[in-house]
Amino acid sequence: MALKAPRGTKDILPDETPWFQMLEETARRVFQRYGYQEIRTPMFESTELFTRSIGEETDIVSKEMYTFPDRKGRSLTLRPEGTAPVVRALIQANLLKRQGEQTLYQVKYGTPAKFYYMGSMFRYERPQAGRQRQFHQTGIEFFGCSSPLADAELIAMLSDYLQALGFKKPTTKLNTLGNMFSRKGYNDDLRNRLAAMKDKLCNDCTRRADVNPLRVLDCKNPNCQALFADFPVLKDFLDEESRTHYETVCAALDDFGVVYEESSNLVRGFDYYTHTVFETCLEGLGSQDAVLGGGRYDGLVEELGGPSTPAVGAAFGMERLVMAMKACGIALPSASAEGIVVVGMTEKCLPAAAKIAQDLRLKGFSTRFDFRAMGMKAALKTATKGNFGRMVLIGDDELEQGIATVKNLENREQEAVALTDVAAKVCGSLSV
Ligand code: AMP
Repeated sequence: MALKAPRGTKDILPDETPWFQMLEETARRVFQRYGYQEIRTPMFESTELFTRSIGEETDIVSKEMYTFPDRKGRSLTLRPEGTAPVVRALIQANLLKRQGEQTLYQVKYGTPAKFYYMGSMFRYERPQAGRQRQFHQTGIEFFGCSSPLADAELIAMLSDYLQALGFKKPTTKLNTLGNMFSRKGYNDDLRNRLAAMKDKLCNDCTRRADVNPLRVLDCKNPNCQALFADFPVLKDFLDEESRTHYETVCAALDDFGVVYEESSNLVRGFDYYTHTVFETCLEGLGSQDAVLGGGRYDGLVEELGGPSTPAVGAAFGMERLVMAMKACGIALPSASAEGIVVVGMTEKCLPAAAKIAQDLRLKGFSTRFDFRAMGMKAALKTATKGNFGRMVLIGDDELEQGIATVKNLENREQEAVALTDVAAKVCGSLSV
């Protein structure tokens, strides 16, 4: 039987890779402007990292993780998201530890700790358009700043990134979950309401009602949804601090010219969020239309054993961004014709042609050499498949005279050049 990629995974073949490269290059360019540095963490972590951070009752932890014992029986999990691993890495490297007023990171780099990452994430979900079991995220995390202006700066940067990719100004959905105290008030209220309707809840919600009542709001069961329809919303439980935080984020976004809409039922599927949560959807993606989601997570660093550190972050789904770019008619930038094709016209000429190709590459040119003898017609045909500006041809006569023919593929002019001068000659007429 032919071997196939596992269900929910996709090969990214060369006609797709330039899209991902464009996302990555633009991300590096934009994020660095805001002071973000790249971080790379392992693809798998101890399972406990995710159960403790994302929350036992979330969909991700309860049914979507790729968890397995290693050969020594340790429980490992392929990372379903990037925030908890980044937090774990910073705690482990002591970078968030305080030295007086500052964290060790600030002492070292002089700025607040801002990171971005790019990589594969794994979730055992039902595959469909825009939903895979292995997918790619670009994420950003900003540590050590509790100011609502930090939330606004981060959301503004995400909007900046989408516009740098060629999207029109996107609309971000915004909500607040309040601080831990507001959350507790809301949770207690939910717990009481759920206790009164215990017999009517589905099995999942019966369990959630005790462990983590907020998660009943994610329940897809229509009976449960009907039961919860007139529950109060979290916003009704916000205390003064939570309300002020949210209002300051909104005011700063207005100031920055970022477009957002308030969305009181946006809760997001992770337990660690506090205060601001947000999500951006784009057109052309069908039912899976969210390209990015994020929020503030002031309690997570401490929860995972680090010093109390406020933080805010977000992640983009890269496959969905590519789909949205195509759907919006955004094109890849076209490559300029700067490559060189080197052709040996007979077997005897191949070693000299190979040597010239090597010289050109060492000078910085992207150079193609096909290891087979080719006549002029075949050579010109292969040169149409790629972005080539020059062709260097060596036939028997040229080899004997120690020269090569350098052909300009744009205007079809050609000249004879000494073999030893080919690299220098081409260097003069093409930019690397
Ligand atoms: P989350 O980590 O759940 O907040 O998701 C952040 C972003 O990652 C989403 O807005 C999607 O663009 C993307 N994403 C999440 N899950 C998947 C998946 N299974 N397949 C493809 N993209 C995903």
